[in-house]
Amino acid sequence: MKALAILVAAGRGERMGADQPKAFVLVAGQPMLLHAARAFDAAPSVDGIVAVVPADRLGAAREMLVGVRALRDVVAGGERRQDSVQRGLEALPPAFDGVVLVHDAARPLVEVDLIEAVVRAAGEHDAALPVIGLVDTVKRLRDDRVVETLDRSELGAAQTPQGFRAALLRRAYDRAYRDEVVLTDEAMAVERLGEPVVAVPGSARNRKLTTPEDLAWAESLLRREGHA
Ligand code: C5P
Repeated sequence: MKALAILVAAGRGERMGADQPKAFVLVAGQPMLLHAARAFDAAPSVDGIVAVVPADRLGAAREMLVGVRALRDVVAGGERRQDSVQRGLEALPPAFDGVVLVHDAARPLVEVDLIEAVVRAAGEHDAALPVIGLVDTVKRLRDDRVVETLDRSELGAAQTPQGFRAALLRRAYDRAYRDEVVLTDEAMAVERLGEPVVAVPGSARNRKLTTPEDLAWAESLLRREGHA
């Protein structure tokens, strides 16, 4: 099964406190987006990559991604994450009927094995995402009051890349836009159609880097591995 990947990197990343968009922040001397693009470039089933970046970073991103062989396009993102994904979808060949992967560039340490596992599962089941178990007990809250304790064994945290048959993802996105739904991931759009989504084991390394502390964690991990 062949796959095309959309790397969304158009967020401002205000929680990171950096003076540039988060995906352009360096981790071990290399922008997050480049780390992520290299992982997808190294994944055997990935045939093409579309990077979605802030409109004022198109030139900088094209320059940054010059060595990424599978790169097909760099396009400008939108207001919300889902708008950026939509721009990425529009940049894919309309006739493509393989697996579309959507990945947060803010998860720069994604492993090739995880990408391949998602492509396999999406090829077989049409929709797949990586999930990791929760370590904390989770409460449902109303204001500062606990309403209930959720059964942790039934819960998981969704990661990316999320993979879908191209036609299914397009249909799910069209419906979500028509219904004016705010999406926090792609699987949510597919779930709304009543279509099954399969979970594969995610990885701790594939953490989304949101705060300066996350950045320090990634730096120290790469340093221990001799990359920095
Ligand atoms: O803000 P958050 O960390 O949840 O964003 C997840 C990913 O979505 C990041 O890689 C970010 O660059 C991307 N994003 C985007 N366009 C937006 C908002 C977020 O491409 N408008």
